[in-house]
Amino acid sequence: MSIKNNLLEIQATLPEHVTLVAVSKTKPVPDLQEAYDAGQRIFGENKIQEMAEKSEQLPKDIAWHMIGHVQTNKVKFMAGFVSLIHGVDSLKLLEEINKQALKNNRIIDCLLQMHIAEEETKFGLNEEELEALLASPSFQGLNNIRISGLMGMATFTENKEQIRKEFLYLKTVFDALALRPKTNNFAPEIISMGMSGDYQIAIECGSTMVRIGSSIFGNR
Ligand SMILES: *Cc1c(COP(=O)(O)O)cnc(C)c1O
Repeated sequence: MSIKNNLLEIQATLPEHVTLVAVSKTKPVPDLQEAYDAGQRIFGENKIQEMAEKSEQLPKDIAWHMIGHVQTNKVKFMAGFVSLIHGVDSLKLLEEINKQALKNNRIIDCLLQMHIAEEETKFGLNEEELEALLASPSFQGLNNIRISGLMGMATFTENKEQIRKEFLYLKTVFDALALRPKTNNFAPEIISMGMSGDYQIAIECGSTMVRIGSSIFGNR
């Protein structure tokens, strides 16, 4: 199967309200170009350096999503061009993104990453931390970021019911947030959940954005 065929096959199964992020981390530029030529315009990377280098070499109408864990000292290397940052899980990081966005005269869309998996190692906020972040005076003063939704990663398991439970939990948290008044830096619309192994379940649970790598580009 070619990258193009994989992509078209997946695209055909996605409902219209679900956006596909093609996760191209570790893959060479010609692979991304092939996906681009097949119509894909949103690419996800998990390393800032790699994303910056690829963005230099590929067409300018690509929307680059940072899906990995972000170190605050590296935000400046993507602030000029990144389209959406999925893995924001601290106020400190959000403050740095805001600072670098301001320098670039931009507003950067961010998703807050929630901890939904059983594993201890995954990054993300719990509900209490989410509340504290949103309620903090510091957050309310950030004018160059926008919280445009939530992101989560389910436990790496074969147990589909476990995965479903975790995605439904994220959906519940999102639905409660979406009832709140929108502000200039808070307008939740996106639920980023679902990868190659579990995106069908994620869509059944209300995902609006799936991040798919190996099913498009092959194993890493
Ligand atoms: C690598 C990665 C993906 C894509 O994983 P696949 O299983 O290859 O589809 C999605 N989300 C995040 C955060 C990732 O790091």
